[in-house]
Amino acid sequence: MLEVRDLFKTYENKPLLRGISFSVSKGETVCLLGASGSGKSTLLRMIAGLEFPESGQFLFNKIDLAQTPPHIRDFGLVFQDYGLFPHLDIFNNVAFGLKMKILESNSSLFGMSRQQAVGLQSRVTEMLELVNLQGFEKRKVTDLSGGEQQRVALARALAPQPRLLMFDEPLGALDKSLKDDLLNQIRTILHKTKIPAIYVTHDQDEAFTIADRILLLHDGEIIRDGTPDEVWTNPNSASAARMLGMGNVIEGMVISANKVKTEVGTLTLNCKHKHSKNEKVSLLLKQSPSPSGRGVRGEVEIKLKVEDVLFKQNQFEVKARGAALSGEAVSKGGLVIHLKDAPKIGQIIRVKVQVECLA
Ligand code: ADP
Ligand code: MG
Repeated sequence: MLEVRDLFKTYENKPLLRGISFSVSKGETVCLLGASGSGKSTLLRMIAGLEFPESGQFLFNKIDLAQTPPHIRDFGLVFQDYGLFPHLDIFNNVAFGLKMKILESNSSLFGMSRQQAVGLQSRVTEMLELVNLQGFEKRKVTDLSGGEQQRVALARALAPQPRLLMFDEPLGALDKSLKDDLLNQIRTILHKTKIPAIYVTHDQDEAFTIADRILLLHDGEIIRDGTPDEVWTNPNSASAARMLGMGNVIEGMVISANKVKTEVGTLTLNCKHKHSKNEKVSLLLKQSPSPSGRGVRGEVEIKLKVEDVLFKQNQFEVKARGAALSGEAVSKGGLVIHLKDAPKIGQIIRVKVQVECLA
């Protein structure tokens, strides 16, 4: 379906997107996860044809979109700020895009036929039912809550049967419980309608809930592309693991075939790649779920010195540092672990972790 090929975009001499390539298949929801300012909205605007890249291509069903103006692309957009028309009622908001499409295809001066008007009416009713707003036709936009307005925006985007739907942080303005609710509704609707979708967000929970496939956007590049499960079990790089806040990433130096010297001591490396002596590697330390339980395969015990303790609901978040190395070799931010009981600052604690090589 949609294919984005080797896209470059620079603003004011600063490269924003550097060689973005990905595709979206039929019925697939692809989620682009990236920090604020990483270029997510810019990418969507370019796919919509509202902005242009320096280089790169967009293809839909193998046809280059370069010559297709935005309103002919048949792509639907849903934004964070809803973008509804306040002077129109809900019916006319939902009908808007579809009406345009009908009038354009008629290319007549006499507007819609009676049959088309009836079709429009029933399509709007159907869309309002789909987003759980049946009977809202006559309401004013200003009388609706944020969640309801966003559902109207979704109905409006769906009404003309777009070939692709794009969501730009659609839940950003809503509070937590509404967010979860609407996220699940969007997910159900996307699966039901099988419309391919690109969903961009900086919110990891949202991304992992809605995505069939996740793309991690970091520093202008897609550093990981996989199913939520694949990305989570195998982030493949230190940047991806850090971005997902998956655990602690530390640096180490390979000292023999499978030994790495780190700030938490010398660890055994179990990596599918071969590393040479003196090579620097990044390691992901995942705290074992139950510190007192039976050992997990590949688990090791490390010693850390406690630097700070924060209360976090049912546990304590402990900032600590390894003491096996000093100077530059020590990670800048320290490590973060979670404990049931609060240790004392300065105390040496033992923690069980699993070690994964990210190189
Ligand atoms: P995101 O949606 O991921 O938060 P954006 O795509 O909105 O990021 O913006 C990415 C960066 O590009 C920001 O630093 C923003 O200031 C910059 N930017 C966006 N549009 C323009 C523009 N028209 N001119 C100059 N800089 C822009
Ligand atoms: Mg944005």
